[in-house]
Amino acid sequence: MAYTSRRFYRGLPAAVQKVLVAWHGRRIRQERFGPEYDQLARFLKESERSDPGKLREYQEERLGRLIRHAYETVPYYREVMDERRLKPADIKHIEDLTKLPVLHKEDVRRAGTRLLSSAMPKRALKRVGTSATSGTPLSIWWDREVSVMNHACYMRLRSWAGFPFGAPYATMQGRPVVPTRQTRPPFWRHNPSWNQLLLSTLHLTDENLGLYVAEIRRFGTVALEAFPTCAYVLARYLETRGEYLPLSAVTSTGEQLLPHERQLIEERFQVRIFDAYSQAERIVFSSECEEHDGHHLYAEYGVTEIVDEDGHPVPAGTPGLLAGTSLHNFGMPLIRYACGDVGALRDGGCACGRTLPMLDGLTSRVGDFIVTPDGRMVPAIMVSWSMKEVPGVKLWRIIQERREAIRMLVVRDRPLEERDEKVIRVYFARRLGPEVDVQIEQVPDIPRSSTGKFRHVVSSVPLVWGDANRWERS
Ligand SMILES: [Zn+2]
Repeated sequence: MAYTSRRFYRGLPAAVQKVLVAWHGRRIRQERFGPEYDQLARFLKESERSDPGKLREYQEERLGRLIRHAYETVPYYREVMDERRLKPADIKHIEDLTKLPVLHKEDVRRAGTRLLSSAMPKRALKRVGTSATSGTPLSIWWDREVSVMNHACYMRLRSWAGFPFGAPYATMQGRPVVPTRQTRPPFWRHNPSWNQLLLSTLHLTDENLGLYVAEIRRFGTVALEAFPTCAYVLARYLETRGEYLPLSAVTSTGEQLLPHERQLIEERFQVRIFDAYSQAERIVFSSECEEHDGHHLYAEYGVTEIVDEDGHPVPAGTPGLLAGTSLHNFGMPLIRYACGDVGALRDGGCACGRTLPMLDGLTSRVGDFIVTPDGRMVPAIMVSWSMKEVPGVKLWRIIQERREAIRMLVVRDRPLEERDEKVIRVYFARRLGPEVDVQIEQVPDIPRSSTGKFRHVVSSVPLVWGDANRWERS
């Protein structure tokens, strides 16, 4: 749904929302399934096991086209390339991309519509907003081609995950579904042309969870696409009741999937979860395969570099900023765009035999790491282990403003005792260093962002790049 219409949608009466959801669903279906989609889907099926050289050839052919197009029709890039005395012919190979600067969020905000191609009428583009959790929202414009490509990549993910598209499925992601202020059910809408149950991510209170589970069962849901924390909340509810809700497929995106969440979700829905990563800027798409051993980069989607703060690529295994170049959005070309997420490339392949490159370990945001006094980056995934020792914890968040201190908020179904606090303190002293002051507070709830996303770590301490040893992995 377009960025500007979200607030409008939230204010509408339920009956009008129902009609709108059905209409929007039909329209999107027409837009995304067509001859272009069929062709792309066939191509993606073949290319995932093709020779890596062929994949690179495909990327460089599209990159050449994109650079030419950007130079000829995008005012921002004409200026950037002229300043550097570059012509499109100077950027033929992926390595040549380093001749161009990394594009940061601030650059996109400043450039505004100068990043749009003059060759495409504005009415042919769709304006969307990036999530407000990653700072001030940005306006991003998609052309039709990138929408179809993104959809084809989602369909690839679904096919890997064993998701029988067409069968009833439920979605718990960032879309507005019912007004935030609403206190009575239904907290969902139906999208008949996709056979989809859209569940609100903003009404997951203890009182409502039974209603959610009943509706998921009533709808005959066979697959679930969710933010991990939302699927986890449902799984926890099932666990407390000793119940299971067997599904054919569960996929997660939008937040980092933590090990304790994965374990409980897989146990209660009785299926392996397929984690995926994408973003509104449409520059990087990656997901797990049936091996669940890191993410495959969907290389047909874009060129992904991992760079340090100066834009220099870092070696495989070393964490850095994800800088993505979309190979399909000619309406608003984003070249070497650093969206603020962090990852590492893996040297070597996957046991599944697919030739798509691998993204190792985590994909998280810059602010999702705790930074220790000696400059190490500790991701939320590491902290989650400590919570295993404290039963009954529903939610937790760590807030960090300086290296020497953290504040931990905990939502638990019973009061935190001294013993529990001690377990947490001992863990942090070992993990972060004894000099870090740990404040623990039990709170009734921890709010999600307006898009329904949840962050386990919110840190404003700057990271130090370029050294693999700084990244805590085990
Ligand atoms: Zn694989």
